[in-house]
Amino acid sequence: MTTALIHHSAFEDHITPPGHPERVDRILTVNQTLNHEKFHDLNRYEAPLGSHEQILTCHPQGYIQALEENIPEAALVQIDGDTYLSPGSMEAALHAVGGICHAVDLVMEEKVDNAFCAMRPPGHHAEKKNAMGFCLFNSVAIAARHAQKQHGLDRIAILDFDVHHGNGTQDIFWDDENVLFCSSHQMPLFPGSGHLNEEGEYGTICNAPLRAGDDGNAFKQALLERLLPKINNFSPDMIFISAGFDAHHLDPLANLDLVENDFQWATGKIMELAGKFCNNRVVSTLEGGYDLEGLSKSVNAHVTTLMKG
Ligand SMILES: [Zn+2]
Repeated sequence: MTTALIHHSAFEDHITPPGHPERVDRILTVNQTLNHEKFHDLNRYEAPLGSHEQILTCHPQGYIQALEENIPEAALVQIDGDTYLSPGSMEAALHAVGGICHAVDLVMEEKVDNAFCAMRPPGHHAEKKNAMGFCLFNSVAIAARHAQKQHGLDRIAILDFDVHHGNGTQDIFWDDENVLFCSSHQMPLFPGSGHLNEEGEYGTICNAPLRAGDDGNAFKQALLERLLPKINNFSPDMIFISAGFDAHHLDPLANLDLVENDFQWATGKIMELAGKFCNNRVVSTLEGGYDLEGLSKSVNAHVTTLMKG
């Protein structure tokens, strides 16, 4: 497989307060991991700036404007219980939107088979009208709509294996029969949504809650019995991964017991489905993952798998 790596130094300019888990060190760790010679064959691309037009497919104009107006000239502004804006936050968030849309373009133009977007801030908690959970714009949702609008794809599947439920992505696609959103996550845990009975207007939302202490076997079972068959039946034209690595046993924000090989396994399963339905088209983007060692090992396993197929 030919794999794109999307990166940009702007992701280091979104600053959070001391002690905040979603911190600059995360992206520095990911970049350092992917600079190892074993990743020499990655095709590296700088993330372009995303456009308002792209964002407007998922968030209203008033939401973008309110975020822009809240960007401080110095220091930090808190916009939700755990979400902050710094002077560089809008630039970072716009490059995250542009980066994942560019990944879609590269895959659709067959310049690469698949892509990993090493970006922050994450996006899957951002609802249509609400920033929350460290997230500003829902990059993966915007990219799904970009694949449909700009490249004429019909059905998009998103697998979100971040340990937190992707409430924002679920909110955006709740009544969209052409986007399948599948999430495994710990429950109960922030943000509180993600019950089995949340299925969307057209049955295209599929949640697989896990319990604190569950390990890789429970994770694999949830995917094998619940999420992967849904994706198989949906026959997607492209598959996105909201790749959060905070289900890793080392992570301080949650209590699942996964190891990096579990993410490797899940990545391989998604690639099998992408091979079957959509010419291997997979676009993965970083969501959570807050223990630097766990994050590094998990990203290593995930991207190695994307490259090998
Ligand atoms: Zn998370």
